[in-house]
Amino acid sequence: MELKDLYREIVNEHNLHPAHKGELEHPSMILNGVNPSCGDDIYLQLQLDDGGVVTDGKFNGSGCAISQASADMMLDVIIGKPKEEALKLAETFMGMVRSTVDPAEIEALEEAAALESIAHMPARVKCATLGWKTMQRMLRDGETS
Ligand code: ZN
Repeated sequence: MELKDLYREIVNEHNLHPAHKGELEHPSMILNGVNPSCGDDIYLQLQLDDGGVVTDGKFNGSGCAISQASADMMLDVIIGKPKEEALKLAETFMGMVRSTVDPAEIEALEEAAALESIAHMPARVKCATLGWKTMQRMLRDGETS
């Protein structure tokens, strides 16, 4: 299968059947993230335990297939990880879409690595990074609404 098709298939799958779309019952943090250039408007909910481990997460809201799929994949990767590790993965993802990261590091992103080709579509980069940036604002900057 060509990489281009794999990318399309993974985006479609997460967009049609998101595993983490909905509402958390007891989120520790909630934050809205918007990408006005496309109209993506999501809010992210994370649940952290006392040790700073992301124990659960969901997103809701509307947006294009890439923003929705990317938020879903982001949650797939970070649930169960300490927040420091989640933030490191966000850095890796940002580096990947800017083509400034070592390809070996991209593997840590699991399925989200399929969005690597977004680096060649500058108009869609903000869609792909929306969920990750919102997560960074919550876990790194402590923003919550
Ligand atoms: Zn978008």
